[in-house]
Amino acid sequence: MSPILAISGLSKQFGGVTALAGVDLAIEEGEILGVVGPNGSGKTTLFNVVTGVHRPSGGNVLFRGQDITGLAPHAISRAGIGYTFQQAMAFGGLGVLENVQIAGEHVRARADGTANPWPTPQALLDFVGLSAVANEKAGVLPFGSLRLLGLALALATRPSLLLLDEPAAGLNDRETTALVGLVRQLPGHGISVCVIDHDMKLMQMLCRRLAVLDFGSKIADGPTEAVLADPKVLEVYLGG
Ligand code: ADP
Repeated sequence: MSPILAISGLSKQFGGVTALAGVDLAIEEGEILGVVGPNGSGKTTLFNVVTGVHRPSGGNVLFRGQDITGLAPHAISRAGIGYTFQQAMAFGGLGVLENVQIAGEHVRARADGTANPWPTPQALLDFVGLSAVANEKAGVLPFGSLRLLGLALALATRPSLLLLDEPAAGLNDRETTALVGLVRQLPGHGISVCVIDHDMKLMQMLCRRLAVLDFGSKIADGPTEAVLADPKVLEVYLGG
């Protein structure tokens, strides 16, 4: 099967800084891929280029075989790539359920029939375990619940590929375990996942495959345990 996302020769410069230096990366249909790397290695830039926040300096991105390189964020979201932010992005003054309803609005406009057949906003709240607070204002939710709401908001856009940016940052162990349990169910709902984080424990729980970035280049890509035992990877983490 061809990959759901195929990144080829992707590069990005910010002035004199090379944030991505010709990265090739494939995300297979139905997998949870982890992208790790030290601070400044280009993980966030990779997500920002894939989601259309930044235009790449070179290379291209194919999503389900279609070239989406340089499209605007709303077009990429509409095509079926969803993402969560490090900061939860909910309207604090609106209800929890209302936020999920609004997040799902724009996919009604998707005419090509590729929207993931995920259930209603209420079912999404059930999935992330927030039904009990459906009518609370999002602004009063504790941090952990706000992160779960962030996941529901991303899922409401009916992605077939979901990008997660440090999904467990600031969560306690119990919340992290709950989140891992949810994310691992996504492939069963037709959603492939790519997660960036530097929390190796989390990555080991979530991902069978890891890609490692260092100074904007991919230095390893393979089964999680093999990558974590790779001398090049150990050097980046222990030697740096
Ligand atoms: P990571 O997410 O792995 O910490 P980033 O993608 O944030 O890495 O950063 C990679 C490099 O690109 C860093 O040197 C960073 O300073 C630089 N960079 C990222 N975004 C910008 C930007 N908007 N403007 C200028 N430099 C940036």
